[in-house]
Amino acid sequence: MPALETTTDALTPEQRAERGETLRRTGVVIRTYDLWKTYIMGDQEIHAVSGVDIEIKRGEYVAIMGPSGSGKSTLMNLIGCLDTPTKGLYYLNGKLASEMEDDELAGIRNKEIGFVFQTFNLLARSSALHNVELPLIYAGVNSEERIERARQTLRSVDLEARMDHKPNELSGGQRQRVAIARALVNRPSILLADEPTGALDTNTGTEIMALFERLHGEGNTIVLVTHEADIAAHAHRVIHIRDGKVERDETVVKAQSRK
Ligand code: ADP
Ligand code: MG
Repeated sequence: MPALETTTDALTPEQRAERGETLRRTGVVIRTYDLWKTYIMGDQEIHAVSGVDIEIKRGEYVAIMGPSGSGKSTLMNLIGCLDTPTKGLYYLNGKLASEMEDDELAGIRNKEIGFVFQTFNLLARSSALHNVELPLIYAGVNSEERIERARQTLRSVDLEARMDHKPNELSGGQRQRVAIARALVNRPSILLADEPTGALDTNTGTEIMALFERLHGEGNTIVLVTHEADIAAHAHRVIHIRDGKVERDETVVKAQSRK
């Protein structure tokens, strides 16, 4: 893969907007240019993300893999618009997210990104249906349509029959499927998952990975963050991160499935 261009300097606002338009038109959902996140700890600077250039296109299924402390979560928070970079440019769906203020960032996050976390992050006192409805409440969708869409999305992860159950009445794998339905219900541009199988046993983890494969087949763009090579191998491309930098970017060649 040819090295990506990293220039961020000396672009006029018009050139930046033009670049965003080109990215959007060519199906680039995520593009970072020399992205940095630096934390100051006392008199120390920690470069959690140090000069990352990545490009992810619509419909890709990408794993971001690296050892603990390599900067995966920090990068995911930047990509997910949960945090802003110290330096560099980040275009999400052609929009320059790295220049946005908090409220604008919250808006683009709700619209463009579905999050899946290791620990599910569901509301404990609410039913599966209500958990999946939540993003639609924030998006201002009316109650009737909300329930219909939440129900449909739960059906798409084979959980419609459990929609009245609360998280503690569901297995770990079922909870994660509720979280995946919640992430999908707004039809986001990307599904962003940070160690989604980290709290699950091996078999349940395999089931969740099979679900991601199916969702990818249905046209979803998936970015999966993991420290496990076995999990990363499910993706179709693996970006290896070390010390906050891209170490390697590889396309996974899938064996033809035999019938
Ligand atoms: P990973 O998810 O790959 O384990 P992280 O992105 O969590 O890695 O962390 C990358 C580096 O940045 C680590 O050295 C970590 O200690 C540091 N770091 C992460 N978040 C903060 C923070 N809020 N303040 C200071 N240092 C941080
Ligand atoms: Mg992490």
